[in-house]
Amino acid sequence: MIKPDAVRAGNIGNILQMVNQAGFRIVAMKYLHITKTQAEKFYEVHKERPFYGELTEFMSSGPIVAAILEKDNAVSDFRKLIGATNPAQAEEGTIRKLYAASVGENAVHGSDSDENAAIEGNFFFSGLEQF
Ligand code: GDP
Repeated sequence: MIKPDAVRAGNIGNILQMVNQAGFRIVAMKYLHITKTQAEKFYEVHKERPFYGELTEFMSSGPIVAAILEKDNAVSDFRKLIGATNPAQAEEGTIRKLYAASVGENAVHGSDSDENAAIEGNFFFSGLEQF
């Protein structure tokens, strides 16, 4: 996902260019504004964390770009491309280093496993929307 902060800052194009240049194939993509309830469902695994309310408020604060990306080693390569959760600790040249402002508003989301990538992809896209 490209998160609401990066959308508001006008960075959709820059981020998609980096994703393309890193060799990811787009399987599915959409621009949408999720509700707080939908954000709570998406981030259910974090519901005990102290930042759950702030996170789901933020994720429903404006439109996002959701996508399914394909590549060998996609999960680990995408996490390398986006950088550490906290942009202050992200490596130079990563998406979060370039475009994120804080640990909460950190420009992009990437799945943390193949299993979660499948669950998260199916959260946003039907089979008919995946190519
Ligand atoms: P990620 O896999 O790198 O996205 O990081 P996590 O799975 O640990 O956290 C999920 C998301 O929760 C992060 O991308 C942030 O948007 C948010 N988050 C994590 N830690 C904090 C925090 O301390 N404060 C706030 N407000 N949000 C956080």
